[in-house]
Amino acid sequence: MILVTGGAGYIGSHVAKELLFNGHDVVILDNLSTGHKETVKTLKEMAQGRKGVGELEFVFGDTGDKELLVSLLREKAVSSVVHLAAFSLVGESMQNPGKYFDNNTSRAVNILECMVECGVRNIVFSSTAAVYGEPVEVPITEDHPVKPTNVYGASKVMVEEILRWYDRIHGIKYVSLRYFNAAGADESGLIGEWHEPETHLIPIVMQKVLGQRDKLTVFGDDYPTPDGTCIRDYIHVTDLARAHILALEALEGGMGSKVYNLGNGSGYSVREVIDTVSEVVGQDVVYDIGERRAGDPAVLVASSDKIKKELGWKPGYPELKDIVRSAWKWHWG
Ligand code: UDP
Repeated sequence: MILVTGGAGYIGSHVAKELLFNGHDVVILDNLSTGHKETVKTLKEMAQGRKGVGELEFVFGDTGDKELLVSLLREKAVSSVVHLAAFSLVGESMQNPGKYFDNNTSRAVNILECMVECGVRNIVFSSTAAVYGEPVEVPITEDHPVKPTNVYGASKVMVEEILRWYDRIHGIKYVSLRYFNAAGADESGLIGEWHEPETHLIPIVMQKVLGQRDKLTVFGDDYPTPDGTCIRDYIHVTDLARAHILALEALEGGMGSKVYNLGNGSGYSVREVIDTVSEVVGQDVVYDIGERRAGDPAVLVASSDKIKKELGWKPGYPELKDIVRSAWKWHWG
């Protein structure tokens, strides 16, 4: 049994789906602070009655609840943990740092302590490109200096450091996956990106197209990039999810601790993203140009060569158009 914390959320639900469809039994632990019960219900429906698909259980609860975690790890005979439950809004993290250090950092320690107590040895940890801060060199490799410019990134860097100590002292093996810009939705169109409030570019553009929001603002067009807007590396959420399976299976097969970037390796500007949505939906998208958003680096593009080489990971959706198409299926559906 694999414990997936945060499995009712956007990335977590896609990870749970891939695990289930690869035959793993999954228990989701989620306090539904940002995840959705409906997503778990959909996952159950997707898995039900299908051959070769694992069993899904859902437990409502918090990663800070030691008693609950210990009983889960023991009673469900959990072999590995995939830990995604976290807050992830950069702006909010700068206004309320305690919320991030508490939920993202302290609770990770709680999970690790419970793992030690119960003899669970493997963990896949959901980290972020925000650990790097302002890039000194792109594409960013895992050796790039780690210098977060916001509390969200710092809360994750601390966990990576803590993981190193738990490996050294308790022999816990981990894979830390540093995600770039997760986007798109499961090919079924049944699960997808659902944040309230939404802050991410692709769903915001879709909401504008669907008339669910009045305005779309591009945050700055005076960056040192070819069209003046920020460049990001958008990776399909299913590709991201599949990397978790590879990491988990490698850990269960005896691999040592690792840190990997996860991106597509190609960057797209905000304008290119809007143009691609426009092409996919067959409609012009109206937007205005606003101020820069605080803390946005001009270019963030990953090198994912390490995970390709070591785990054989390969993106199934390298084209932005296909990523956007899958997101549209979910939003439109
Ligand atoms: N962005 C934008 N308008 C929006 C939302 C985002 O121009 O309404 C830009 C943002 O400044 C960044 C890019 O789109 O350059 C991707 O932002 P997102 O919040 O999706 O992801 P992030 O890169 O912050 O993780």
